[in-house]
Amino acid sequence: MKSTLRVRFAPSPTGYFHVGGARTALYNWLIARKAGGSFILRIEDTDDSRNAEEWVEGIVSALTWLGINWDEGPYRQSERSELYSKAVERLIVEGKAYWCDCTREEVDQRAKERGGAPGYDGFCRDASKQNSPGSALRFKIPRPGQTVVHDKVRGDVVFDHGNLDDFIIVKSNGSPLFVLANVVDDIDMGISFILRAEEHLPTTPKAILLFQALGAEELPIFAHVPVLVNAKRQKLSKRRDRVAVEDYREMGYLAPAVVNYLALLGWSPGDDREFLDIDEMIELFDIDQVNHSPAYFDEQKMQHFNGVYIRELLADEFVNYCLPFLEKNDWWVGNVKQLETFSRVAPLVQERVSLLGEAAEMIGFLFRAEVEIPLELVDSVLRKDIKAAQIIKDVGEIYRGLQRFTAEELHDVTRAYCESIETPLRKLQAPLRVALTGSKVGPPLFESIELLGKETTLKRLSLASELIGTPSQ
Ligand code: GLU
Repeated sequence: MKSTLRVRFAPSPTGYFHVGGARTALYNWLIARKAGGSFILRIEDTDDSRNAEEWVEGIVSALTWLGINWDEGPYRQSERSELYSKAVERLIVEGKAYWCDCTREEVDQRAKERGGAPGYDGFCRDASKQNSPGSALRFKIPRPGQTVVHDKVRGDVVFDHGNLDDFIIVKSNGSPLFVLANVVDDIDMGISFILRAEEHLPTTPKAILLFQALGAEELPIFAHVPVLVNAKRQKLSKRRDRVAVEDYREMGYLAPAVVNYLALLGWSPGDDREFLDIDEMIELFDIDQVNHSPAYFDEQKMQHFNGVYIRELLADEFVNYCLPFLEKNDWWVGNVKQLETFSRVAPLVQERVSLLGEAAEMIGFLFRAEVEIPLELVDSVLRKDIKAAQIIKDVGEIYRGLQRFTAEELHDVTRAYCESIETPLRKLQAPLRVALTGSKVGPPLFESIELLGKETTLKRLSLASELIGTPSQ
């Protein structure tokens, strides 16, 4: 039998899709999938001044990438205004809302005179005012009273109505406020479980009062999941931290690694296990185990997860995942020869990267016509050792005489040369690698040299020794 559990993810399209939003979506999705319920996507786009179509597309594309699919939607609040108007009508008729034409200055002035907390004092509550230009509709908070939010994560949270203002539900321009549209939709869509970010908890008593005022038969279950913080324990912010899911996608994260990491921000399966596939997450996820303390979003740890997921890919999969990243470079034409070279080097790269984007960086030297050696490396690696110039020259000569240009052969002759000059092989690796690839890191050296081929190798070694001989500017 299909479960009646209905959850929704209800983002406001006001910016890049945030990792915190992705975590909220994921938890909702896990709950729905576990219970065989429905996951609904609802775009809360009532705030015209802050919404943009590109952000809606960003949300849809990020959720799709993450594999968080929806059973209904995306619904858009901007297309549902009739429903909100009806609800507003009902609240007015039933005396549960009233028009207020106080300006902000008036409200502030009276608060000052009272000497109490700022906020609306209920000035128009019993004045039976009509809707006139500039007036807003306020919800009449039942007084006295209190509302208890039974929260699955935070336990019971009590709100005294004495601390709640008669809040605005329709702005003076006629548009419904977030909390009204949100509740009207939750009722209309039969949402039975609301899981959302902790920042919404202070609004929840207002939402509950609206549910009741609008005659909802049953309240949904509420769960407010903890905020995400950075290393300094500050709430993640788009100004300070990298928070856009899109950025991570572009850096070369694999969606399953991101999903796995996000699932652990506030939840753990209860043992020391951290790596879970999606089916295990669905099976094990339990809202009762979600912690209420802030969850540290540790980008380095997520990157580590990504490395583990990259290493688990089949060789072919890794190649395919890398292709879009290779295609961003002007040195990549994607012909058969390049593809063949890349396929050969790919398993060596796969072991060494934690982002797909790094893979492209690491192998560019194989495809670029020339390598550019950063000045910093010329000084710190090539010129550091007085012998490096001589070594590069000698090695070039030795390589020139090679018949078989294979990694094994290259390794053997280079080692023999090292013995002859009584220098450990590892000391040669850095200058050789820098001379040939322009970088200190990359796939194993001799395999790289084999792939580079004799002609290019000799050319680059000779250019590097010239460079060492030329004084830096
Ligand atoms: N639209 C709200 C937001 O993006 C979400 C509200 C909710 O989940 O109830 O923060």
